[in-house]
This record gives sequence, structure tokens and C-alpha cells, in this order.
Amino acid sequence: MGGFFGVVSKSDCVNDLFFGTDYHSHMGTRRGGLAVHNADGFTRFIHDITNTQFRSKFETDITRMHGASGIGALSDHEDQPLIIASHLGVYAIVTVGKVLNAEALTQQAFHERSVHFAELGANEINSTELVAMLINQGATFLEGIRLAQKTIEGSCSLLLLTQDGIYAARDRLGRTPVIIGEKTDAHAVTLETCAFPNLGYEVNKILGPGEIVRFTADSIETIQPPGQRLQICSFLWVYYGYPASSYEGINAEQVRNRCGACLARCDTVKPDYVASVPDSGTGHALGYANAAKIPYCRPFVKYTPTWPRSFMPQDQSVRDLVARMKLIPIKDMIQGQCLLFCEDSIVRGTQLKDTIQRLYDCGAREVHMRPACPPLIYGCKFLNFSRSRSEQDLAARKAITELEGHAEHCELKEYTIADSPKYVAMVERIRLRLGLTSLKYQTLDDLVAAIGLPKEQLCTFCWDGVE
Ligand code: SF4
Repeated sequence: MGGFFGVVSKSDCVNDLFFGTDYHSHMGTRRGGLAVHNADGFTRFIHDITNTQFRSKFETDITRMHGASGIGALSDHEDQPLIIASHLGVYAIVTVGKVLNAEALTQQAFHERSVHFAELGANEINSTELVAMLINQGATFLEGIRLAQKTIEGSCSLLLLTQDGIYAARDRLGRTPVIIGEKTDAHAVTLETCAFPNLGYEVNKILGPGEIVRFTADSIETIQPPGQRLQICSFLWVYYGYPASSYEGINAEQVRNRCGACLARCDTVKPDYVASVPDSGTGHALGYANAAKIPYCRPFVKYTPTWPRSFMPQDQSVRDLVARMKLIPIKDMIQGQCLLFCEDSIVRGTQLKDTIQRLYDCGAREVHMRPACPPLIYGCKFLNFSRSRSEQDLAARKAITELEGHAEHCELKEYTIADSPKYVAMVERIRLRLGLTSLKYQTLDDLVAAIGLPKEQLCTFCWDGVE
């Protein structure tokens, strides 16, 4: 997936930039970068953060960075910020999203023979460089960004750091959020609003879909108004957004609490305790426990001192091992108990199966599971965060393949309809595979109600395949 942060101040901005970018560490796991601008031009550092926290990699660099404006990013794939010299001037750029038509755009650029790409990573064109190539085709930054928004299939939100301030542009359909904050003598831009409170920023403006602004330390100018159609990613609230963040002014933790409460209202099971697999299920489980008036407990605790990150490493077998080592069961709280777990979602189910088995090994009497969103049936094609997950590896797709007897050309629609015969059969397959006493998913209607935006403003493609 990835995240970004930018700031323009009347004094040195490096401290805000460093911590503001760091607050996106849950969004990107492989590459981190910072760029600042001052009277001497641009200074930039990029590091591999696969096995190290962002902060520890940049602690020394920031002592060599000085400037009143800067941008930073964490990403799963590409190096950024990139410093670009063009007819528009020198600028730095970061992007978040996924360029689906990257190959076609690359071939078109090669056909014109005047373009080359220099930032290859694992033999792939750096998609941020590709976006910069599109922007450079405009007569102005505004025209270039508009061209990029029009041309890119998939999604792309971006920041440009120029000598005249920062341009911030939200994805054409607003799949990812872009939010402007303000404090005395400075403005900042973020994807995650959890970056603001401790740095003293208040939310000033939530960009609408496709909106473009240019801001300095003391002004914010909308240079392209928002478009009509919003398709913000619902999964931000369910899982990968930080609990302290708000999108479209709606806080993620409160949505998770509402999801849990809704699951409780629809349930008939009376467990001894409600629990979660830390940390992503915690907000949902607390909502469930409070609504059902059943105690919340922590039969698993996470060993955070040395395992602070949730996504790394990229290799699946090592990731499974890390996931196991992170979670420590408390047998005294599990033995003989009927436990109900809330999870954000069930993706592949492999780690979850192991976790459930460990509960039985510790003497659990019953284990019930309540995912806070419907079965994931389609892989995300609009953002990059799930690139490592193959659609056919999804627990729901595996169940469908078993039921249909083949993986190709399955008619999936009925599996997306809660309580249809195919849906019920699919959920039962998943329950059996995970070894659960019961499994009941949140419905899409209830998830949408918990978020609180109209369905047509939300991307729900993961669950219903609707674009
Ligand atoms: S497909 Fe899923 S993860 Fe991707 S943008 Fe839509 S809701 Fe978000």
C-alpha cells in the first residue's frame, strides 16, 4: 500500500516531516524516504526498511537535513521520493496507489523515443517515476497532474514538493484519503490523520476525489475542485488504517467498535469471553464485548518489544513464523473456556488456522469467530497493499474452488450474497477448514452502516466485485 506526509513551515520542518512520515509505518514495509527543500536545492535519503523501523534508519540522516518544506513516504515496492528535473523545474514526488496500465503507458513512452526510466526496482519501472513522466507532459504542474489523473487506470494520490510549496492531489475517485492540517506558521498533508495530534496540527481540509491543492506555510489554494464520484477504500476502516485516524471525518476505531456491536446484536452465542487476535481485531472485539455485556479478555498477548511490525517480512513462511512467535497464549485464560474472537477479516486463513489450533491445544472448549467484514472474494486491484496475496489463495476462493471442483470461470456473484445457499456452503467450508465451533461474517450492509457513508461512496470491490 504505502503512505505519505508533507509539510511547509516558516521554520525548519524536518522534525515534523520525520515523525509525520513515521506515523505511516504500518502502511509501507520495504522502502522509506524523505526529501527537503532549502535555498541550496533538495536533499533526499531513501532506505530499505524491510528489517528495520523507519525511525532508526533515518535518525542520523535528519541531522543532515535542513529546510522549511519536505515530503516523505513509506512504500511496499518503489523508491521514493524521486527528485525530477523537468521543464517545470526541479521537484520531488511521492505517490500512493497502483497504476494498472503501467505497461501500456511505458510502451507508449518508449514509442515516442524521448523518454527513459532510471529508477528500476527488481526490473520493474518505478511507478512514481512513471507518474512523474506523465506530469512532465503538462505545460504547468496543474496541467501535468490533471493529465496523470486522467491517464492512470487504478489509483494515484500524490505530493509534489516544489520551490513554491507542495501540490497535493487526491486520487480521481478518492480511493485513498489526502488531508491537510494546520498549526501556527505551518501546513501539513497526510494520508493518516493520526500523524497530526502529537505534532500540533488540526485538520483544515479533507480533499475530495480528484481535488488538487497547492499550499505554503500560510496559504492553501484549491486549484482543481473535487469531482462528483467518491470510491474511498472501505478496508481502511476495517483493517489497514490506524485506529487513531479518521477518513472523511469518520474515525477508524469508532467504526471498528460499531462493527463489533453490530456483530453482537446479530449473534445468539453466549461465550465466556470476547477476545481478539491482537491488534487488528481489538477495536471490533471491544465493540462486541461492550454491546453484548460479555467480558473482553486477552488470551493472546503480543510480544511487542522486538516484533513491532505487522506486515513484514515478505516471505510467507517467515511471516508465518514471525506471526506465531509474536503471539503468546495465556493458558490459564483459555483452558475450559468458550471464547468468541473478533477478527478484522479472514484473508488466507493459514495463520488463523494455526492460532485456533493453539487455542484448542491450550484447552479451549469452544472457539467462535466473527470477522468484521464479509468473506474476501476478489483481490484488490486499485491499491498495492495486497500485491503479495493471490486471489486464488483467499480462504473464500479456496472454499469456492472446492465446492465448484475447479478454480476457473466460477460464477462468483451468488457467493457474495449473504445467506444464499452458495454463501452458506462456502462459509461452512471455511469453518471446517479452520476448525471453528462457529463462524459468522459481518454482512456488507452492516459494514456499510458501521462506516456511515452511503454505499455508492465506498469501494466494496473486495467483497461484492462491484466497481
Ligand atoms: S478493492 Fe478492497 S482493498 Fe481495494 S480499494 Fe476496494 S475496498 Fe479497498
